[in-house]
Amino acid sequence: MVVLRRVIGAGLVVIVVAVVGTLLARLLSAGNERVSLTVTVAGRPAHVVEGTTLAEAAARFGLHPRAGDLLDVDGKLLRAASVPGKLLVDGRPAPEGMRLRRGDRITVVDGHDRREPLIRRVVHVAGGAPSDLQFTVSRTPGEQVIVSGTLSHELVSARFRASGAARVARAVALTFDDGPSPQFTPRILAALTQLRVRATFFVIGYLAEANPDLVRRELRLGMTVGNHSYNHPEVPPFDQLPPRLLGDEIALGGQILSRLGARPRLFRPPGGSSSPALVRAAAALGQRVVLWSVDPADWSPGSSAKEITKRVLSAVRPGSIVILHDGGGDRSATLAALPAIVRGIRHRGLHLVALTADTTTAQDATGNR
Ligand SMILES: [Zn+2]
Repeated sequence: MVVLRRVIGAGLVVIVVAVVGTLLARLLSAGNERVSLTVTVAGRPAHVVEGTTLAEAAARFGLHPRAGDLLDVDGKLLRAASVPGKLLVDGRPAPEGMRLRRGDRITVVDGHDRREPLIRRVVHVAGGAPSDLQFTVSRTPGEQVIVSGTLSHELVSARFRASGAARVARAVALTFDDGPSPQFTPRILAALTQLRVRATFFVIGYLAEANPDLVRRELRLGMTVGNHSYNHPEVPPFDQLPPRLLGDEIALGGQILSRLGARPRLFRPPGGSSSPALVRAAAALGQRVVLWSVDPADWSPGSSAKEITKRVLSAVRPGSIVILHDGGGDRSATLAALPAIVRGIRHRGLHLVALTADTTTAQDATGNR
């Protein structure tokens, strides 16, 4: 009996020890065990242990938001990878050290490419801008509103803002079309120089290409050289040419002038055939359309110097643009008429000017290009 009692006693002790040991072990291990949390990473469920920070989760799941680039106004790269991406938790920016909680949603947001900021400047245009070059020499007072990139200084837009009504100048512009002519242009230039007149020459591209020295001489003498198309097509009327051909004629004529050192800013369509679409096509190439308000028909066969002079002086008024020709045929009558025309215009208190596209162009104002 005694033996049996001892055996039972020892057994109880063993059982008690075992039970206590198990409980203790469980208690201890429960202290160390890290509970697993379910979170959503980039749209998929994932498990992290409790206490995991956002930075740790980013490293573990390879979450690397792409950085965006800083671009200039034309979309060219200014600074690579300078707009950082972000990790959001539940749709909100969160610090890297933030500990994740059950059900958190982590989203990766790449940095968007960003355009440089724009800067807007207003520049007073001294003397105003030409308001209606097509028919008259007049100027509108105002200022140029210039928008450009803050970092690249690239021009985005330049717009003239009028601050008052157009004022017709007490000036007249003599213009000469269809040259340069080796036979008449030098003589007309000599006559204008002697009369101290600056005029405007609308040259034909292929003739300018054939007589580059004459164009250079015009420029040297302070004349304005404008574009009168490359081929001077007349049939169909210039404004009815297929748009592509029309654009090519303006662009090609302009290129020849640029090559000879003249900035092609003014365009006179052959035959004066104009339309809103043509004005837009020329403007897209940086050229303004110039027509005229006085036409003495110096080109019509049999016109004498006296008749040409009379037709000019009877029609001329402040702001007039007079069309004459230094090319396209025998220009002796035009040449002979010049002194009387100039004297007659000056006698009315009007001065003679070469046309200009703009006093302050956007490019000049930004110091760009
Ligand atoms: Zn012409």
